[in-house]
Amino acid sequence: MFSGRWRKPESSRFGAGTQEHRWIMIGTGFPQVQSGNERQQLAFWDEKTLEEMTTAEWEALCDGCGRCCLMKLEDEDTGEIYTSDVHCRLLDGESCKCSDYPNRLSMVPDCIKLNSENVRTISWIPTTCAYRRIAEGKGLAWWHPLISGDPETVAAVGVSVRGRTISETKVKPGEWEDHVADWPNWEPPEDI
Ligand code: SF4
Ligand code: SF4
Repeated sequence: MFSGRWRKPESSRFGAGTQEHRWIMIGTGFPQVQSGNERQQLAFWDEKTLEEMTTAEWEALCDGCGRCCLMKLEDEDTGEIYTSDVHCRLLDGESCKCSDYPNRLSMVPDCIKLNSENVRTISWIPTTCAYRRIAEGKGLAWWHPLISGDPETVAAVGVSVRGRTISETKVKPGEWEDHVADWPNWEPPEDI
């Protein structure tokens, strides 16, 4: 199906919030605004831009899917970038958390720290990624833990990479092409 020479793009992974997650459930911790005599609750992800979010809010946006920590492969002939089922050596394939989040940028030099600017320019950020969705004005998906109230919905709906990947340390030279995979790009329906 694929041909040509393969190499890892200069930056083939990023990490935005795959440390211990802090879940903020609906109905708690939202900024509150006055609307006439009514008090209306607004979720921070609906009210704020990415630039306006606090560090805690930014981190809470991550759904812990682990898709961003999968290695990308670039066809050197066409420049096309493909997703693989190979995860970064620091990712725990079961918990989908970075095993050394505070030191990730020094431990894995091509790990990109996602921010409100590069989330708009890196083409291979998963379309399901909460940061990308917010940046594109789509809001959070129904299966996002901040909406569902349950961190397990990310796995239940099929977005999490939990248990479906292997470490880059186990891929032998010449076998990378065998790990190109479409499933990490799958998107659940917008509505249920
Ligand atoms: S170092 Fe690896 S596992 Fe950790 S955040 Fe970056 S890409 Fe993900
Ligand atoms: S792809 Fe998933 S794990 Fe990665 S930053 Fe986005 S929401 Fe978090």
